[in-house]
Amino acid sequence: MPAARECPMCGETMKLKHTDHVVRVAGYPQPTTRTTVEWICPECDYFEEAEAEKA
Ligand SMILES: [Zn+2]
Repeated sequence: MPAARECPMCGETMKLKHTDHVVRVAGYPQPTTRTTVEWICPECDYFEEAEAEKA
């Protein structure tokens, strides 16, 4: 995964943001946590999903 990425809208350097989601799966008593990774532009609020982490 690249360490840095330029915003396609304004050219600013985007930052990676990790967000944890609690996912409840039917049949499993314990909720599991999934992490999504997004590129966030601090200048114009543009964002896009980064490559999903492999389980
Ligand atoms: Zn931007």
